[in-house]
Amino acid sequence: ESRACAATVATALEAVARIVDEHADELGRLDQVAGDGDHGIGMQRGAHAARDAARAAVGQGAGAETALRHAANAWSDRAGGTSGAIWATILKALGSVIGDEARPGAEDLARGVSAASDAVMAFGKAKVGDKTMIDAIVPFSDELSARIGDGQGLAEAWSGAASAATAAADATAAMKATLGRARAHGDKSVGTPDPGAVSFALICTTVADVISS
Ligand code: ADP
Ligand code: MG
Ligand code: MG
Repeated sequence: ESRACAATVATALEAVARIVDEHADELGRLDQVAGDGDHGIGMQRGAHAARDAARAAVGQGAGAETALRHAANAWSDRAGGTSGAIWATILKALGSVIGDEARPGAEDLARGVSAASDAVMAFGKAKVGDKTMIDAIVPFSDELSARIGDGQGLAEAWSGAASAATAAADATAAMKATLGRARAHGDKSVGTPDPGAVSFALICTTVADVISS
């Protein structure tokens, strides 16, 4: 059972690498507006490394937490940049709630996503409204917890939360960046969504497809 969960982690990271490849040019263009233009290539490097590390760990019989920890370390080592460190933080926090042994239920995943959201805020010190990935992570986590609390199944809840993340990422276009590399160009960013929020929502959407298949 726990091996099945680890295999799902590897399958999800394969889908993540694919969706990041498909949107790399767009993510790079978004990051050019108020950042340094490397969000597409950085996400590609990180997601490919994470996929390969998870695959290798699962091949050696690792559980979900171990597979996620290997993926996290590979992501931050190979991506560099702020988003690489943040994605490593997300995967590690999720893994530490899921664990290696049991097959997690929907409530466990909601708690894991919430822990990941808290860990990213502790790591990067951004708050809601600063125009970062946080503006997609928090609505995603809140919607997922609310739906699962209402008794929805994981696939339906995750898919609804991914829609909330997409709407929230779109809504960052109206915000002014105050943190990270975009801070120096805050005004220029108005009208363009935050690249890290957009990639977060794309990833949630593709993971929804993996969960429901
Ligand atoms: P870098 O800024 O190092 O070039 P990327 O371009 O890959 O890294 O990622 C930029 C994204 O990182 C931003 O669009 C934003 O979503 C996210 N980000 C930057 N700083 C923070 C922070 N303090 N907290 C959360 N997310 C952040
Ligand atoms: Mg950048
Ligand atoms: Mg950079």
